[in-house]
Amino acid sequence: MTAGPARNVRPLPDSYWVATAEPAAPTPPLAGDRRADICIVGGGYAGLSAALHLAEAGAAVTLLEAAEPGWGASGRNGGQIIPGFKAERRELVRRLGEAPGGRLFDWSGSFVDFTLELIERHGIACQVSRPGWIQPAHSAAILRDYERRAAEWQARGVAARILDAAESERLLGTGWYKGAYLDPRGGRLQPLSYARGLARAALKAGVQIHGDTLVRDVTRGPKGWRVAAEGGVVEADRVLLCTNAYSALAGGDAPWPGLARSVVPVPSYMVATAPLGENVRRTILPEGHTAADLKRLTNHFRLESDGRLLFGGRGGLRDDGSDSGFAPVIGKLREFFPQLGAIACDYYWSGRVALTLDHVPHLHEPAPGLHAALGCNGRGVGMATAMGKVAADRLLGRPLEECPVPVSPIRPIPFHGFRLPAMQVTVWWKALRDARERAAS
Ligand SMILES: Cc1cc2nc3c(=O)[nH]c(=O)nc-3n(C[C@H](O)[C@H](O)[C@H](O)COP(=O)(O)OP(=O)(O)OC[C@H]3O[C@@H](n4cnc5c(N)ncnc54)[C@H](O)[C@@H]3O)c2cc1C
Repeated sequence: MTAGPARNVRPLPDSYWVATAEPAAPTPPLAGDRRADICIVGGGYAGLSAALHLAEAGAAVTLLEAAEPGWGASGRNGGQIIPGFKAERRELVRRLGEAPGGRLFDWSGSFVDFTLELIERHGIACQVSRPGWIQPAHSAAILRDYERRAAEWQARGVAARILDAAESERLLGTGWYKGAYLDPRGGRLQPLSYARGLARAALKAGVQIHGDTLVRDVTRGPKGWRVAAEGGVVEADRVLLCTNAYSALAGGDAPWPGLARSVVPVPSYMVATAPLGENVRRTILPEGHTAADLKRLTNHFRLESDGRLLFGGRGGLRDDGSDSGFAPVIGKLREFFPQLGAIACDYYWSGRVALTLDHVPHLHEPAPGLHAALGCNGRGVGMATAMGKVAADRLLGRPLEECPVPVSPIRPIPFHGFRLPAMQVTVWWKALRDARERAAS
């Protein structure tokens, strides 16, 4: 299928998702000034979900997106709908206190149901299914942590369970891991089709979406907020920023001082192999699960119905499209799945995830009527969809004490400008620790 109407400013990378996605609905650039109740900046899952829920509640919403909806991480990811956070409940409670930590943890159990219900309610065509999700363990110590995780969810009625090394090898198709955590709630979808479907649903609900419209400035004006963008100005009572790892796109301090520096934007890489032969195909993920591990330098994978293995993970830090950026990912693909032999990869693409220092998403309200929601730490298919609803509820006046995500000040990360050299060292150190942990068990 085609990638929808011609876009000329920032095309999506030539990914497997672009090659197989549903077409995009027209989202013409902003041309002239307009007024809205609420203006949303950023058309990923968070911005689109917020826009849809706000419009359904009766608000006049305009959404501005620098490229096409889904151009950021939302149209490039692994499409795994993951339940829960990387952090365990006790960690959240230790950091936030019993009630807020518990509320945040319980909310994380709703991500998959919430996303699946939204998809069903709006009839979004995105190849969604719920085969269950596997989180493999690279060491015996991590597997013991997973036992606690499984117990936490079992206590809430979820049939999560631990796989020993043999069962994990059978269900994954690789013997690289020491065992795994299996969560039956996990789902999968075509990520770009999902973003485009959300945009279509938002348009149908009355949202004005303008693609190819980079926001350059958000300031307080005499009649509320003034969002200055390519092609015009939107005046709105309230503004929601959902720019995630692409928050620095407009340069300088736009769209809001400190926001881009409050997360670490990390490149994440994916490849799609050529279709596997029947015998090899049968050995990998035979029950349709998707998998994402919890290594410091994570890897994730899924098998498509056309026999391609999609494999992703951390690679080069520059995100400049060079082959060297993909080398670590290809290396791990071959190490995990030696049965692939010398099979070629047909698609290579990358995107950016927004990491937060506390590993949970952030909700900010830096000025009256100005909100921001970002930082889904590489797990935003379900989480960012749910964050959009949480942000929409706050914009509609939901009291803070009912909000599952704490509202925090924007905290720019010190020495953010020096993050590349710092990350080089961190990556080396993380790889070393991952390898040591694995070797120790
Ligand atoms: C390769 C990869 C694999 C991943 N795999 C998974 C997975 O399997 N499961 C999972 O749960 N998560 C995964 N993730 C993470 C997930 O994709 C993200 O957490 C999620 O898409 C974030 O959604 P978002 O709406 O917050 O941000 P984004 O989708 O990144 O959207 C932000 C948007 O803001 C726009 N923008 C920024 N600045 C401006 C501006 N000034 N003006 C106008 N528009 C602007 C950008 O153009 C962009 O479209 C993966 C991410 C990557 C990159």
